[in-house]
Amino acid sequence: MEREHYTESVRENHRNAIEDARALGTFDAWIGGESRPAESGATFETRDPVVDEPILSVPRCDGADVDAAVDAAWDAYDGEWGQTTPVERSRTLQEWVGVLRDHLDELALLESLDTGKPLSYAEGEVTKGLDFIEYYANVCRAEEGKQIAAANDAHIYTRREPYGVVGCVTPWNYPLVLTSWKIGPALAAGNAVVLKPAEQSPLTALRIAELSEGILPDGVLNVVTGFGDEAGASVSGHEDVRKVSFTGEDVTGEAVMTAAAANITPVTLELGGKSPFVVFPDADVEQAAETVAGSITYNTGQSCDACSRAIVHEDVRDEFVEHLVDEVESHTIGDPLDEETTLGPLVSKAQYDKVTEYLGIGVDEGATLATGGDAVVGEGLEDGWFVEPAVFVDADNDMRIAQEEIFGPVETVVTFSDYEEAIELANDVEFGLAAGVATENGSLAHRAAADIDAGSIWVNKYYGRTVTGSPFGGFKRSGTGRECARDTLEAYTQEKTVHVPIEQDPTL
Ligand code: NAD
Repeated sequence: MEREHYTESVRENHRNAIEDARALGTFDAWIGGESRPAESGATFETRDPVVDEPILSVPRCDGADVDAAVDAAWDAYDGEWGQTTPVERSRTLQEWVGVLRDHLDELALLESLDTGKPLSYAEGEVTKGLDFIEYYANVCRAEEGKQIAAANDAHIYTRREPYGVVGCVTPWNYPLVLTSWKIGPALAAGNAVVLKPAEQSPLTALRIAELSEGILPDGVLNVVTGFGDEAGASVSGHEDVRKVSFTGEDVTGEAVMTAAAANITPVTLELGGKSPFVVFPDADVEQAAETVAGSITYNTGQSCDACSRAIVHEDVRDEFVEHLVDEVESHTIGDPLDEETTLGPLVSKAQYDKVTEYLGIGVDEGATLATGGDAVVGEGLEDGWFVEPAVFVDADNDMRIAQEEIFGPVETVVTFSDYEEAIELANDVEFGLAAGVATENGSLAHRAAADIDAGSIWVNKYYGRTVTGSPFGGFKRSGTGRECARDTLEAYTQEKTVHVPIEQDPTL
C-alpha cells in the first residue's frame, strides 16, 4: 500500500491513513455474499484511539439483520456448502487465505487504526490469524470417524457432522486473530457462520468478508456489526444458531451462556484472566522480569492471558522489581504508525477510564506504584488514550488490583515465602486462563505446572502467543472449551452414531 504522503504530524498521519482505510472497501454488513446497510439504516462510528477521531461509520445491526444473516447462512449450508467434502473446503479456504495474504498491508492498517496497536505488531498478528485459518483448512482433511466394536451383529460407526450455522462473537483486543480462531475451524468443519465483531474494531472482519467474494459461496460467511446487547445478543440467543462461540469478558460470557441455554445451544467461551507468574528463588530473575514486562505491556496490556500478577519469592523480590521497572520503562510510547513505537494507546476512552480508575484503586488500597500510571504527554498524543505502564508493589493478593481483570498495562507484584504459599496465591483468584513459572529446577516446574489451576502454563518464557495447534482456553471463570487445537474442529461438529445390522448367517 502506498503511504508516501505520510508526514511527521501524528494527526495528519492518521487523517491520511483514515482516508486510505475508507477507500479500501464498503464496510457495510456482509450478508448473503453482499454488502448491506442495517435494515434500520442506523450506523455507528468506529474511532481511532490515537487521535480520537472517527474512522468510518458502520451499520448498527439489530435482530432483523441477524435474522437475515442466519437465513443466508442456512441457505448456504442447505445449498452447495453443506455438500462439500473436506478436500473441497480445504481448497476453498486456502484460496481465500491466499487472497487475504495479498492484502496483508491493508488488513494490518485497518487493525492498527481500529485498536491503536503498533502497525508492525498488527502485521504479525494478521499473519498469525491467517495461519490459523490455513491450519484448519489443512487439518480438516485428516478428520476420521470411529468404528465401535461393541457387537458382532452390527456395524456401528460414527460420523462427525457440522452443526449447520455457527454464531461467533468476538472482542476488540486481537480482532483478526480471535476471529480466525473461530471461523477457521467452524468453516473448515463445514458450517456457515454469522460473525459479530466487537463494536470497537469491526473493520478487518468486514474486509475479510468482502475479500471472500467469489471464493466462499454466498452466505457461508456473514458479518453483522453492532453492539453487544443488540446484534450480539441476537446471535447468542438465536434459535436457528446451532453453536455459539464467544470470546470476551466473563460477565458477558454468563449472559451469552444463559441466552444459548434457552435453545440448548452448545457454547465455547473464552473469557478473561488474572494470570499469575510465579518466580521461584532459583529463577533467572532478569529473564523472568523481562518475560513479565513483555506480557503485561504487549498490546498495551490488553491481552486475556497477560500475566498481570507477579508472585515473587521474597529473596528475589527487589532484584525482580528493579529489572521489571527498567523493562516497562524501556518502551517507546507513541504513534502506532511509527515503526519505532512499541506501545500504543488503550483501545478507547472507556478502557482508558477503566485502567486509570484501577490505578487510583490500587493506591487507595495501599499498594505502592513503583513506576508509571501517568497519562502520556507527547507531541500529537494529547487526544489519544495513552497511559504509562505501571507496576504496583507492596500489594496483597486480596486487593482488587490483584483479583480483577484490569486489561491494561498494570502489573501487581505480590511476594511469597514457600512453595505452598506460592501455589495458594496463584490459585486464589476466580480466573484460570494462563500462568507462568520461573525456575531452573525442572522437577519444580512440572510440579507447579500440575498444581496451578490454569488452561496454559508457561515455563520460564511466557511467549503469550498461542502456538497454532496447541489448545488454549480457561479453567474456572476463564471459560469452557479449547481453541487453536486440532481437536477444536470437533467443537464445531456433532457426533452421529450409525447402527447397521449384520446378518449372522448371510445367505448368498
Ligand atoms: P466484551 O465481553 O465486552 O465484548 C465481547 C463481545 O461481546 C463484543 O463483540 C460485544 O459486542 C459482545 N457482547 C457484549 N454484550 C453481549 C451480550 N449481552 N450478548 C452477546 N454479545 C455481547 O469483551 P471486550 O471488552 O470486547 O473484550 C475484552 C475481554 O475479552 C477481556 O475480559 C478479555 O480477557 C477477554 N478475552 C478473552 C480471550 C480468551 O481467549 N480467553 C481472548 C481475548 C479476550
